[in-house]
Amino acid sequence: MAGADRAALPHGAAPRGVTGPLQAADTAGFRHPGRTRAGREFCCRQSGARAQRPNRQNAGMRNTPSNMTVQRLDLGYFIRPASETGTSQPRADPVLAYLVRHDKGLLLFDTGIGAADPETEAHYRPRRRALREALTAAGAALDDIALVVNCHLHFDHCGGNPLLAGRPVLVQEAELEAAQQGGHTFDHLIDFPGATYEVTAGETEVWPGVWIIPTPGHTQGHQSLVLRRNDGTVLLAGQAHDTASHFASEHLARRAAHDGLQPPLPPYQPWLDRLTDFDPRRVLFAHDCSVWEPPRTRPAGGPAEAATG
Ligand SMILES: [Zn+2]
Repeated sequence: MAGADRAALPHGAAPRGVTGPLQAADTAGFRHPGRTRAGREFCCRQSGARAQRPNRQNAGMRNTPSNMTVQRLDLGYFIRPASETGTSQPRADPVLAYLVRHDKGLLLFDTGIGAADPETEAHYRPRRRALREALTAAGAALDDIALVVNCHLHFDHCGGNPLLAGRPVLVQEAELEAAQQGGHTFDHLIDFPGATYEVTAGETEVWPGVWIIPTPGHTQGHQSLVLRRNDGTVLLAGQAHDTASHFASEHLARRAAHDGLQPPLPPYQPWLDRLTDFDPRRVLFAHDCSVWEPPRTRPAGGPAEAATG
């Protein structure tokens, strides 16, 4: 649908100075000229959790842990050039990861900005905060991490993966295939000693109450993480949308369609239907410090539900 095309080029930007097969990767947001296919085999296995795929009715309504917590990690920022913002101005984008404390252990969703080549460094001018430092500030250490989930494998999301060698990295099959084909990310960030991928195709409950949901658009293999807590679902959307306001806009577009408004209506990503099944109360992003919360009100007579807190 048109929405997918728009998500791949979130601000209508045209890739700069790119031709041939690299173009597909570049329109996905980051350009990585000159990548070559990794020469070594990856350690991959299919995720055993695939057997736990739900039907749409149970939709993750069981196995909700009571003490799952989420901490946001500041891993730096970069300057997105004006050519990619759809405006006449560049934009500073944060790079955020999320640490999930679960009964099963610590899960890390994205790992920060990896080393790039000089051209990419000059293009995005990243300022990194070390993953080790960010984890220490959150009261954790690299060795504590049991499981890594990357929303996708561009270099600003998987930069710390080599520091977590031996830990399973959950990634969509389509994303790993794109990465292995070259032109998608930097080889040293995905092909390193101890790289251990658990490949999924579709949605998976990886730990009780922790769901991977495919959210293709920015990349074909993009995925988001759903955390079902007792006080409501937290959605780690990664770069499914660049900003909370973009998510809000499409969420409302979906509502308009479901309300039966007549066309023309704004498009929205089809997987918003699936995410809405989980009734998210907070949605957090990889490149936006803003948080989306539903414009929900309490039952008639009650005070309006606070937008934050
Ligand atoms: Zn990306």
